[in-house]
Amino acid sequence: MTTSYLSSFELVSALRQQLDAGIDVAMTDSFGQYDDFNWSESYALAQNKQNTAQIEQPAPPSFKQPAQPTQPAAHAVARQKNGILSNTHPDFTTITDLQALRAALEQFDGCALKKTASNMVFADGHQDAEIMIIGEAPGREEDRMGLPFVGAAGQLLDKMLRAVGLSRTDVYITNILPWRPPGNRTPSVEEVELLSPFLMHHIKLKNPRIILALGGSSAKLLLQTNQGIMKIRGKKSILRLEEGLDIPIIPSLHPAYLLRAPAMKKLAFQDLLLLKKLSNG
Ligand code: URA
Repeated sequence: MTTSYLSSFELVSALRQQLDAGIDVAMTDSFGQYDDFNWSESYALAQNKQNTAQIEQPAPPSFKQPAQPTQPAAHAVARQKNGILSNTHPDFTTITDLQALRAALEQFDGCALKKTASNMVFADGHQDAEIMIIGEAPGREEDRMGLPFVGAAGQLLDKMLRAVGLSRTDVYITNILPWRPPGNRTPSVEEVELLSPFLMHHIKLKNPRIILALGGSSAKLLLQTNQGIMKIRGKKSILRLEEGLDIPIIPSLHPAYLLRAPAMKKLAFQDLLLLKKLSNG
């Protein structure tokens, strides 16, 4: 057996990655240990036991669209430095289908990420699917192919979906951000704030029966909370888009995180069972 030691710099950097992914509590002391989780066998067992506990959280307050502020000049300069070129959004009331939303995003020049990305990543899957999956942002492979979740994390996501009897054609997949942040850095607060009105309109037009929010960024944005993903995962909450438009949402762990922390796959699997159960209901 080979034992490797991490430098303090590597340890801090590993912890930073965890925090960026919204992981802010320790669940196990075996982080990083290989855990060959058997997705399909676990599904068969779970179906026999019917042991999915469903815990409901109270409905969060309605999603607030970020205000279009009248910024003082100095603040506007700071925003530009953070990659925000303009926060003038289109008139969403005129965008009435997903194709028009894609076109509006293609024309939107307010975000500097568009300039560094190779492709816009809008969505994949089936437009009529009842399950909508929302990740964080495209990575290198997604940027290259113009499709969400096609890299290593996407391959794991496909495997996870298959384990509960779902495929890409049973779901509709998108991200908070349609453009890759350079070097796969965590999106800035400003970028998320700028692009979230597009995501909210995307959800409204798609109108899924249920949402799976993958990772801390997605879950925190959609649930308007600062709580870490470990605290909110696996419980049904409600996204109130507007009066009369409530969509159940299940936050879960991001597949990219599961690749680094395979021992957590069993938690993600429980979340998928709940998703499957609620999407059938
Ligand atoms: N991670 C995400 O959040 N989305 C992708 O599309 C790929 C990786």
